[in-house]
Amino acid sequence: MSTIELTIRQEKILEIVKDFGPITGECIAEKLDLTRATLRPDLAILTMTGFLDARPRVGYFYTGKTSNQFLAEKLKIMLVDGHESTPVVINENVSVYDAIIKVFSEDVGTLFVIDANSHLVGVLSRKDLLRASIGQQKLTALPVNIIMTRMPNITMCQKDDLLIEVAKKLINAQIDAIPVVNKTTNGFEVVGRITKTNITRVLVKLAETDG
Ligand code: ADP
Repeated sequence: MSTIELTIRQEKILEIVKDFGPITGECIAEKLDLTRATLRPDLAILTMTGFLDARPRVGYFYTGKTSNQFLAEKLKIMLVDGHESTPVVINENVSVYDAIIKVFSEDVGTLFVIDANSHLVGVLSRKDLLRASIGQQKLTALPVNIIMTRMPNITMCQKDDLLIEVAKKLINAQIDAIPVVNKTTNGFEVVGRITKTNITRVLVKLAETDG
C-alpha cells in the first residue's frame, strides 16, 4: 500500500465520519455543501485506502486508521534489499594504519574484515581504530584481526530481512553499521551495509512520499 496524502476535502470528510458515522454519502455531501456526485471520487479513495469502511444502506464508518498508521504499515513491510549501501571491506592481514587510511579514503565509519576466501571474519569501527592508536603498538605492523570484533559475535542481516528488524538490531547492539551478507556453504559473503544513515534516509523518503 502506498503512503497516503489526503486532500483538505478528504480530511474534512474523515472528520465528519469520525463525528457522525455511520453516515450516508448524501449526509456527508450536505454537511459540506457539495453534491453527492462531487464527493464520489473522494469517498472511493477513502474506502479503497482503508480510512473508511462502507456498508450498504448504513453508510460510512471510520476505521480508526490514521496517516501515521499507514506510514507504520509501510515501514513494517520494507526489506533491506534496495536500501543498503556498498560495503567497504579489507583483508584481515591489513595493518591498522592502512585501515585508518581506508576509513578516510572511503569516507565510512565501519570496515568489514574478510579472509582470503572473501568470507566475513570481523568488524572494525572508528573507536576500535582509535583505541589501537592510543596504545603503544606500531600501527603499520599491527594487523586488523588482532583488534577487530570477530565472528561469531557479528550482528549481520540479509537482503530479505525486514528493515525495521535491522533498525532494532542497530539500537539493541548499540552499533552504527550492520553487514548485509549472503550465506554460502562455508561462510558469509558481504554484499552490502546498513547504517544508521540508511535508516534515516528511509524515514525521510517515507515522510516525503505522497502516493
Ligand atoms: P564506534 O565504536 O566507532 O562508536 P560502533 O558503535 O559501530 O562504532 O561500534 C562499537 C563496537 O561494536 C566496536 O567495538 C565494533 O567493533 C563493534 N561492532 C560494530 N558493528 C558491529 C556489528 N555489526 N556486529 C558486531 N559488532 C560490531
